[in-house]
Amino acid sequence: MLSKETQLILIPTLKKYFGYDSFREQQQEIIESVLSRKDNLVIMPTGGGKSVCFQLPALLFDGITLVISPLIALMKDQVDGLTANGIPAAFFNSSQLSSAQNGIFDKVINSEIKLLYVAPESLALLENILNEKYISCVAIDEAHCISSWGHDFRPSYQQLGFLKHSLPNTPIIALTATADKATRQDIVDQLNIPNATQFLTSFDRKNIELEVRPANDRVTQIIKFIHKKPNEAGIIYCLSRKSTEQLASKLKQNGIKAMPYHAGLTFEERTKTQEDFLFDKTQIICATIAFGMGIDKSNVRWVIHYNMPKNIEGYYQEIGRCGRDGVKANAILFHSYADVIQLRNFAAGASNEDVQLAKLERMQQFSEATTCRRKILLGYFGELLSDNCGNCDVCKNPPQFFDGTVIAQKALSVITRLNESEATSVIIDVLRGAKNATIVDKGYDKLKSHGVGKDISWHDWQQYIIQLINQGFCEIAFHKNNALQLTSFSQKVLFEKKMVYLTKPIAFKEQAVVQKEIKEIKAKKDTLFERLRKLRYKISLEENIPAYLVFSDATLKEMERTRPMSQSDFLEISGVGQRKLEVYGDEFISEIISFMDGKIPKKKKGDTYKVTYDLYKEGLTIDEIAENRNLSPTTIFSHLAKLYADGKEIDIYDFVTKEEVELVRKAKEAMDSPATLKPYYDFLNDEMEYFKIRMALTILIRPPNPKRGN
Ligand code: ADP
Ligand code: ZN
Repeated sequence: MLSKETQLILIPTLKKYFGYDSFREQQQEIIESVLSRKDNLVIMPTGGGKSVCFQLPALLFDGITLVISPLIALMKDQVDGLTANGIPAAFFNSSQLSSAQNGIFDKVINSEIKLLYVAPESLALLENILNEKYISCVAIDEAHCISSWGHDFRPSYQQLGFLKHSLPNTPIIALTATADKATRQDIVDQLNIPNATQFLTSFDRKNIELEVRPANDRVTQIIKFIHKKPNEAGIIYCLSRKSTEQLASKLKQNGIKAMPYHAGLTFEERTKTQEDFLFDKTQIICATIAFGMGIDKSNVRWVIHYNMPKNIEGYYQEIGRCGRDGVKANAILFHSYADVIQLRNFAAGASNEDVQLAKLERMQQFSEATTCRRKILLGYFGELLSDNCGNCDVCKNPPQFFDGTVIAQKALSVITRLNESEATSVIIDVLRGAKNATIVDKGYDKLKSHGVGKDISWHDWQQYIIQLINQGFCEIAFHKNNALQLTSFSQKVLFEKKMVYLTKPIAFKEQAVVQKEIKEIKAKKDTLFERLRKLRYKISLEENIPAYLVFSDATLKEMERTRPMSQSDFLEISGVGQRKLEVYGDEFISEIISFMDGKIPKKKKGDTYKVTYDLYKEGLTIDEIAENRNLSPTTIFSHLAKLYADGKEIDIYDFVTKEEVELVRKAKEAMDSPATLKPYYDFLNDEMEYFKIRMALTILIRPPNPKRGN
């Protein structure tokens, strides 16, 4: 435990630099452990909040924190994120010019940065600063890359063991989202940190809604889903390169901004696609699993698995990429037997075929579950959930069982009649009395049971057969062209009157209902959130950083909910730290005020300005009016600007000089009249306060009326 003093420092530092009011699970313990200079191994799920665990201590150490990270391409985003929070940081790599590299060394030596990101390959070039005089802490991100047991093994990570020898008194913090024991031990061994404290946090990501759907007509399902979520970023994982391309082009045909991403594209193509996604220019990526590692875009709102993943580890890591900001997110998995069959074929012949097949089977059990899915998922990682989660499709729509014995008997007797030699689709065709070529050629239309299941749709039959397989009443013979076969259980149904319980297949909403919902969503377009999102996008382009680094969705949502109209209220928002308040505060506050102006009925709207105006006319100063009205001076200035623009008598030159107005006029011309204040602020070298810029712009729009003498 650390002293009270430190406790008093941690939360304020978290607020000041990251904008958050409280720690997430275990973050504080981890940070305290780092600060007490112990070695640590942190296992936290993707999106759990690992970065703060080394970034916050970095602010409190005298020297710099060296961050080892595998992907050069993403270091820039990390550094941009830190810079946006007012934390000086840099990245180093071998492709930089030597003058740039020397500049970084100078910054380290002069203590001008707090964090330095570097790829393991470039560590050798840092020889002259790998010294405890400069380095206070080493963070190793994606630490599972060190282990050949892990799934992302990188040879360059294996030399990291030398760090403990070169910097024996420097605490090391290794972080990963891979939970398995062998990998954990390997990390500790190879880094020479046998006494590292291990932190294993919960793997539960409560905000992600889990859902599994049958794969029928999945493209249509996906298009409907996306239309209901305009502007929300998402990733669709596919098994093959070809399907990423096909799906992306179908989505494009439907007016959706989607791009494919896979290892067959050129480096430039992939980089561009990834960038456009990070910057919200492309809404959706259709990707193979090659996409996503290390991307910490926090506003990915959903992940869809177009195909079933190979194993639960992969699935969990991929869905973890949505909802990192803690706001509600969706994970949808499409389940089809065709995928299972294909994945089994992939596994066949692999050196660890048994392991792969066993893992695939667990994935399948998850997909076919009729109990809380999160319980199954977390159970896989050794975590027991005592209650059902309430945020998965099974919890939300608990299966309604009914007596399905007759249905089962019909299916099983057709399987028997066809000598257990036909796959599901033929079984269903016979049940439904189809007369296509296969059926007629094989004489199946002559069978007594041909057409016994006419009353049930193709889709529903498919669902029932899946349930029968799941319950063990029949099975797929993967080695015999996927023929459906009987099991010992089947006999009990056919001859011993064993009851079978089935659940009603999920009915898809009527097209008309969906269309109506989409219409309603489109009608709701002018929400405050939408306005704030657009403002965020605009700023992101101006500053050339991804939108989520300006503010996360969670932060925008809170602004929408609480509508801060003063600087002090704005700072209360989670995700608003000191620097972001200073740099973005005014623009967002103005947007909120203008939105509210549009919403408040005319009379009331007049009132708030009138009250300010009356107090102004009584001769109160700005600060006095602000205090009197319990509003911020910024708000009062915006009132006065508005009153002035409306023609009221305001001595506007009390607030800004003619010279200052002239400077703003020049800035306006030079920049082609930007719509917000920030560009002016930057243009004027941060030397003119925002309220002055605002007043000057007001004057430029409505020059003083000489008659009235103002
Ligand atoms: P990880 O590296 O574990 O995948 P990140 O460090 O990228 O996760 O954090 C995920 C998201 O959670 C980021 O948007 C981060 O800003 C946010 N976050 C981290 N700590 C907190 C906290 N204490 N309160 C609110 N949000 C947090
Ligand atoms: Zn559940």
